[in-house]
Amino acid sequence: MHNKSIHWFRRDLRLEDNRALYEACLNSNEVIPIFVFDTNILNKLKAKDDKRVTFIYETILELKNELLNLGKNFLILYGDPTIEIPKAAKKLNVNCVYTNKDYEPYAKSRDHTVEKILQKENIQFLSFKDHVIFEEKEILNASGSPYKVFTPYKNAWLKKLQPQHLSKFNPDLKKITQHSGLENKIIELANIGFKKATLIVKPGKVGAAEQLEQFSLKIKNYDINRNFIDLDGTSKISIYMRFGIISIRELFRYANSFPSKGADVWKSELIWREFYPMILSEFPHVENNTFKEEFNSITWSGKEEHFLKWCEGQTGYPIIDAAMRYFNETGWMHNRLRMIVASFLTKDLLIHYKKGEEYFAQKLLDFDLAANNGGWQWCASTGCDAQPYFRVFNPETQSKNFDPQGSFIKKHCPELSFFSEKYIHAPHTASEKEQNKAKCIIGINYPFPIVVHDKQRLKAIEMFKI
Ligand code: FAD
Repeated sequence: MHNKSIHWFRRDLRLEDNRALYEACLNSNEVIPIFVFDTNILNKLKAKDDKRVTFIYETILELKNELLNLGKNFLILYGDPTIEIPKAAKKLNVNCVYTNKDYEPYAKSRDHTVEKILQKENIQFLSFKDHVIFEEKEILNASGSPYKVFTPYKNAWLKKLQPQHLSKFNPDLKKITQHSGLENKIIELANIGFKKATLIVKPGKVGAAEQLEQFSLKIKNYDINRNFIDLDGTSKISIYMRFGIISIRELFRYANSFPSKGADVWKSELIWREFYPMILSEFPHVENNTFKEEFNSITWSGKEEHFLKWCEGQTGYPIIDAAMRYFNETGWMHNRLRMIVASFLTKDLLIHYKKGEEYFAQKLLDFDLAANNGGWQWCASTGCDAQPYFRVFNPETQSKNFDPQGSFIKKHCPELSFFSEKYIHAPHTASEKEQNKAKCIIGINYPFPIVVHDKQRLKAIEMFKI
């Protein structure tokens, strides 16, 4: 039993069903909750109105208020955690620092450093599995190696799942301290160099609960609707999962309460969420190189000016432009659109997937290194279990299939809003008369396509023949 411990919150910003917080409360007389605004991460962010910072800031305030209402304290620090956590642990005279595991390479090395420093002070560092149901090395194939293909991984994952894997870890909050013994200043966004941004989702657990309530009406049809861009048939829970505002066990319990094909397909997506961190841990070269090493030598011949047009949503392909403009404004993109724009960047513009991956990393509300890297390498055909390189998405067909009336396009490319269903997916094919009727002259009010898909497709296939 520890006399005093710290629970260091990172990607587990919740009190309910929190494994490490549960263990800390179970095994300590007093627990001091701490969060550190990490300058190693914050200093790298380019936009001062980064939406993730507002989201996390508001979530931390919510958590602080939740604890205040229970008469509890929550220490919020700002700085380098490898300095701040050992410093606080020493000052507060704690015996142990509890955390939930974070599987990203930066987090692993940060935790290793903190653990080593604490060891010298005779302070224990304990970390627990919480972010996933099964972590790396828990799901292995018959020869004891990690899976490289999703479906057998998923089957093994489902076979291993037992009711206890979905148990709740509700901490005994009485153990949380009333006075940490350190000065607890309220950190303002402006003081850490950021501005408040507008968000399309509500932060914190209130936001997560609303999202799940809305999704309750959709989950049974998820298998049918999830690919249609304007139907809003997905959960938008990834943002909350990224920061651990809701536990993964809770999501599985939630899904199990809607027995249906839709819920089964949704659970399968949650298993993809575990597959990619496993791949990143077992094959760490994917962070900077292609999973399939033979594709490292591909010459991506795309042009910088095309990359800029892709970023700005000025490619002349309406579905791409609508997706990118909406993304720039909100930090959100539907999964089908992520696939379409990633395929377009790599296979139509012949630009290295790393450039797209980095652009997404700067802006995605739900940015997660493993999922983003996995998603990009899937689309670029360089990843494990990826889209075969000769199967190239046709953006116009994708647009017709998944935004049939062009309603998403019209919302985000308003200059195209008077085109009929016939032309909305490829307005440059409309006659001069049709363009006049739609009050949009291609080449003046909206660009001509910057590349010709049919030609680029052949070049992409050629590029992979190495
Ligand atoms: P739902 O359809 O409701 O799915 C439920 C949950 O399952 C998601 O919240 C997410 O946690 C998980 N999930 C769904 N699809 C995937 C997937 N393909 N891979 C891993 N987990 C998945 N997801 C991220 O969380 N962060 C990223 O940075 C990210 N980058 C991506 C980049 C590209 C190029 C692509 C193609 C996909 C990326 N994804 C990423 C996966 C997927 O697009 C999002 O998880 C999904 O759109 C989130 O919306 P949702 O919560 O409504 O998902």
